[in-house]
Amino acid sequence: MADTTRPAAHTDIHAPRGTALTARSWQTEAPLRMLMNNLDPEVAERPEELVVYGGTGKAARSWAAYDALVRTLTTLAPDETMLVQSGKPVGVMKTHEWAPRVLIANSNLVGDWANWEEFRKLEELGLTMYGQMTAGSWIYIGTQGILQGTFETFASVADKRFGGTLAGTIALTAGLGGMGGAQPLAVTMNDGVVICIECDRSRIERRIEHRYLDVWARDLDHALELAIEARDARKGLSIGVLGNAAELVPALLERDAPIDIVTDQTSAHDPLAYLPVGVPFEAWAAQREADPVGFTKAARASMAAHVRAMVGFKDKGAEVFDYGNSIRDEARKSGFDRAFCFPGFVPAYIRPLFCEGKGPFRWAALSGDPEDIRKTDQAILELFPENARLHKWITMAQERVHFQGLPARICWLGYGERHLAGLKFNEMVASGELKAPIVIGRDHLDTGSVASPYRETEAMLDGSDAIADWALLNALINTASGATWVSIHHGGGVGMGRSIHAGQVTVADGTDIAAQKIERVLANDPGMGVIRHVDAGYEKAAEVAERAGVRIPMQEGPAASG
Ligand code: NAD
Repeated sequence: MADTTRPAAHTDIHAPRGTALTARSWQTEAPLRMLMNNLDPEVAERPEELVVYGGTGKAARSWAAYDALVRTLTTLAPDETMLVQSGKPVGVMKTHEWAPRVLIANSNLVGDWANWEEFRKLEELGLTMYGQMTAGSWIYIGTQGILQGTFETFASVADKRFGGTLAGTIALTAGLGGMGGAQPLAVTMNDGVVICIECDRSRIERRIEHRYLDVWARDLDHALELAIEARDARKGLSIGVLGNAAELVPALLERDAPIDIVTDQTSAHDPLAYLPVGVPFEAWAAQREADPVGFTKAARASMAAHVRAMVGFKDKGAEVFDYGNSIRDEARKSGFDRAFCFPGFVPAYIRPLFCEGKGPFRWAALSGDPEDIRKTDQAILELFPENARLHKWITMAQERVHFQGLPARICWLGYGERHLAGLKFNEMVASGELKAPIVIGRDHLDTGSVASPYRETEAMLDGSDAIADWALLNALINTASGATWVSIHHGGGVGMGRSIHAGQVTVADGTDIAAQKIERVLANDPGMGVIRHVDAGYEKAAEVAERAGVRIPMQEGPAASG
């Protein structure tokens, strides 16, 4: 195993702020600051182990590798490229000014070997690391990313079923953990009411303390009473209730509770992380350790009861969806044969956005000054005055989001929009309106950068769910277009063997060449999403391609056919 014992010199990593360069140019200062920012104690979950987020998603393989990354980035020339193999720098090669300064490949394994068992064996030998999505590609910005994605999902639920708002509706969910804790605020940002079931009282307390959750109900009846009152007043309200979802969701179904939307974000993807009915919360850790096989069986049986009640709500007309935690598959494994009666959230709500090349565009201010983000927020609002959802998000984010590490922002922008934002930021750097350059990147959970059959590419129209060529083409075109760093990862989000994805980050340093690179990268990157969805047969994507002049060779020329 790579030695991850933290040297004393690394107990408190913070990216440098301000305009003084540590590296030779902003094109290398940017990856240096973002690598360090990923390991800032305000940003990372377990910086002492180099873990940024998402289970064991790391920024560097070992502390020796981290030191070598910092050393190399500090001295890298403007016509050199550093190669990173699963968190360890393995070479520096002469390239040219338009080439990325860093190329990264994380956690990739050959098909038949692409499973956790093999990965852990290789990790133990010190040969690889788990890069998650934005951990090993140095563009994680803390929980804001999760909040925005969840806000966007619930906004899409509102668009699809409830006339564009959740006002006057009650949602039901469970799990107030790292990801799930964003649900209450995301629903109230969409003006809805939500009941959140959680079996760990400390999680409820934390969400209330951070103002993500409004109130804690005494019991289920109290929760329902509060929910109905707020719904009738068309006021947003989030209500926590302590208990086991496998008991309380069926109990609400039995009471015929007027629930409009049902989902779940307990950590169902791992049966040892789902509390079965009958196991007291305090006994959880000891029982799963003592008998993991028996515990898994009990957890799956409880998940089946939970999912059966979710299907019951669907039968009564509620909007029900799986929120990327594999609870349907676990319930199916326990013998519940109607588990897949409701869809995953991507095919249900997000794919139409992907067809327009929309996805999680994010940026960070290398100055470290929150005022730079306030100015870029304003620029975005002025660039896209018609986009009401974007305006609502940015305004609420300014009020509610506390920056972690370097100040940053995320919002969903589509094809034809992202490069406008990037060029504007570059102009603002050039004119001195912003104190220092801006890095512009995204999550790998984007329109044209990921193959993940249980999530982003579930139920593609043409059955191409597991085709990973698209993610690789995405990395190649971003490299060819002038991105500052580009990465190819395996296994992020849903685990080993289940996804292949790519990332890019481009630096707006105010120069002319940066403008030329931004114009290409921020068009071609979301453009991959448009062509990927045209190829899969989505009409909406074909309309976007035609309107925006995206060239699709198979549809050009006299003999055009599918
Ligand atoms: P987490 O482990 O931090 O939190 C899960 C919470 O569920 C915990 O607070 C736990 O106490 C609670 N819980 C477990 N069993 C329960 C039960 N029976 N009743 C009530 N509460 C119970 O996990 P997280 O980071 O919040 O992620 C939640 C799930 O979402 C995971 O399965 C994760 O893989 C999945 N996920 C979704 C997306 C997405 O895009 N939607 C992305 C990544 C991961």
